[in-house]
Amino acid sequence: MKEKNKIPAVFKEDLKKLLQSLNEDEPLLNGDRSCLVCTKIINYDNLQLIIPRSGKTFEYVCNDPVCVEQYNNSNKS
Ligand SMILES: [Zn+2]
Repeated sequence: MKEKNKIPAVFKEDLKKLLQSLNEDEPLLNGDRSCLVCTKIINYDNLQLIIPRSGKTFEYVCNDPVCVEQYNNSNKS
């Protein structure tokens, strides 16, 4: 009874377009982007959050629930 996510293909395409529009596609494919929390290399499979920073740079959080939660907590004021 494995009902796995049915939409990743569509999502990945949108994500790719988004990253290409941001010129972040290549750095990601080259392994130049890492998780803000755990510093693991980010790729299309483990990318969870893209955080825009000033100066046209972006930070990433991987899909590890621990990282997502830690980021969300650190962002609460
Ligand atoms: Zn992480």
